[in-house]
Amino acid sequence: MRSTTIPAARSTDGFTVQRPASLANDVYEAIYAQLMSLKINPGARITVDTLAREFSVSQTPVREALGRLEGEGLVIKTHLVGYSAAPQITRRRFEELYELRLRLEPYAAGRAAAKMTSEALDALTEAAGVMARRNGGADERVRYSQFARQDAEFHDLIVALAGNELIRESLAHLHTHFHIFRLMFHARVTEEALEEHERILEAFAARDSGAAEQAMADHIERSRDRLLPAFEGEA
Ligand SMILES: [Zn+2]
Repeated sequence: MRSTTIPAARSTDGFTVQRPASLANDVYEAIYAQLMSLKINPGARITVDTLAREFSVSQTPVREALGRLEGEGLVIKTHLVGYSAAPQITRRRFEELYELRLRLEPYAAGRAAAKMTSEALDALTEAAGVMARRNGGADERVRYSQFARQDAEFHDLIVALAGNELIRESLAHLHTHFHIFRLMFHARVTEEALEEHERILEAFAARDSGAAEQAMADHIERSRDRLLPAFEGEA
């Protein structure tokens, strides 16, 4: 019953026994990837039946996945209408998001630098750079959605190291990377971000809190400036 048509199912390497839980998870990941790569556009209708046929699965795992995505704010369920992709982030919300990130993430990076261990540094290095090395041949849109995921992990790991769970939960709840990576599809976004990640890593390697704080602030400001053109024409 396990379908082989679920595209780009992530992180299932090594699984030989497909339990229903992992099927549901594969479907979740497949829909997530479609949302992130704009195969399903912001605001677009999502039909359970269409997805079930596309993935060659029953409606149950699709409904389960959509329920989970709804709980995360990534899809919206409307009475009598059904599911649709979360709308594009507004400019105002975008600016608020970056203001919040600029308050919290440089602070977290500074704290993380002070607590840095060689194990944590290895994990961060992996999260910061795997993408560029591993998927050179992959479709650019797939690469892009994978980079978005990796960027989310990199930033989450830093906040986790800082040791304030409430800050971590608050940032995770915003699904920042989901929203910002849907704004613009551009190779520059990933290349420049990787260079900025390198500078953050250098500060971590030197256990330099001040430099880590500054490098993170620069990264977030540059990220904001790269994405702002997506709102051209809006007030
Ligand atoms: Zn980043």
